[in-house]
Amino acid sequence: MPRPSSHADSVLTIDLGAVVANYRALRDRLSGAECAAVVKADAYGLGAARVAPELASAGCRTYFVATLDEGIVLRSIFDGLQPAGEAQLFVLNGANPGTEEEFYEHRLIPVLNSEPQVDAWATVARRRGAPSAAALHLDTGMARLGLSPSEADALASEPDRLAAIDLVLVMSHLACADQPDHAMNRQQLTRFRRLRDAWPSTPASLVNSSGIFLGGDYLFDMGRAGVALYGINPQPDQTNSMAQVIHIKGKIIQVRDVDSPMTVGYGATHPVARPGRIATVPVGYADGWPRALSNRGFAYVGDIRVPLVGRVSMDLITLDVTDVPPHLVQPGCEVELLGGHAAIDEVAKVADTIAYELLTRLGQRYERVYVGISA
Ligand SMILES: *Cc1c(COP(=O)(O)O)cnc(C)c1O
Repeated sequence: MPRPSSHADSVLTIDLGAVVANYRALRDRLSGAECAAVVKADAYGLGAARVAPELASAGCRTYFVATLDEGIVLRSIFDGLQPAGEAQLFVLNGANPGTEEEFYEHRLIPVLNSEPQVDAWATVARRRGAPSAAALHLDTGMARLGLSPSEADALASEPDRLAAIDLVLVMSHLACADQPDHAMNRQQLTRFRRLRDAWPSTPASLVNSSGIFLGGDYLFDMGRAGVALYGINPQPDQTNSMAQVIHIKGKIIQVRDVDSPMTVGYGATHPVARPGRIATVPVGYADGWPRALSNRGFAYVGDIRVPLVGRVSMDLITLDVTDVPPHLVQPGCEVELLGGHAAIDEVAKVADTIAYELLTRLGQRYERVYVGISA
């Protein structure tokens, strides 16, 4: 199929089979609890329209997005499937007052994060005269979204406030799930247990991807898996057990000979120390390749690691390929920026960021190729 980006020199390959394999692995870890998929930010940048239907075929029934607009798009994706997918769609940021009707129209379930959101949803539900599904978010230690423990206690002591609401989920979110020994995990678990006891028959959910690996007591009725579906390591202190989902290959567009006393790139930050060769690859910070990788990043030619030298430009990076056999680094040859050798978690670390940020910032100029698609 011809695509507007078909002239791109850089290819972002997204392995949907690996996403499904990761979904199944996480579901097994949840030992009976439901595995919901978090597909906010367009499935962390990988394309919700491609990712969500694959997950649906693998049996995923529940999805989380961040915003109402993302929810509307996701609903239209499911309605467009043959046969139409019956998915339960939660909107994490909740319903801002005045948007409630849109939630009904698109069959979206708000996660109610504050007393005003709870009371506004209840008011609309009463007016409609039918119980309206919602999730309730209890803050157990993030100080971000959700009712504080005292607000939750107050709500629990006034059951009338929730009478018109069909409470389908009580949830909270862990601050330190990727650090299994962190004391916050136990504290949040203890708080969540106490607070959710006010709604004992409502399904409960505490864990994100990393939290799933805390196991046992933490799992309740549902896990909310995001980043691990996309191949990021949910257990940073161990080797990654998730299947690799994304690969980026860039094509060398120019190779030039350099020697001392030259410098490479903006700011003349890389002095050339010896006779050598610089390969230029058309990926830059406009493609989400962090500028923080200037003089610190790397790429692979086959299994040879080559350093990124000079600054990352908007559209280009420069690699020192002096130590690579010349026939492997000609214009048109491919280099691996992310994939089997260049692990996204390592690249993110070198860039002083996290793989979540790297993933969600990969721009629109790559040719996107989806592989591993189910029949
Ligand atoms: C983003 C998000 C998740 C998914 O987190 P991952 O670490 O990507 O698995 C789960 N729950 C909430 C509330 C979130 O905001």
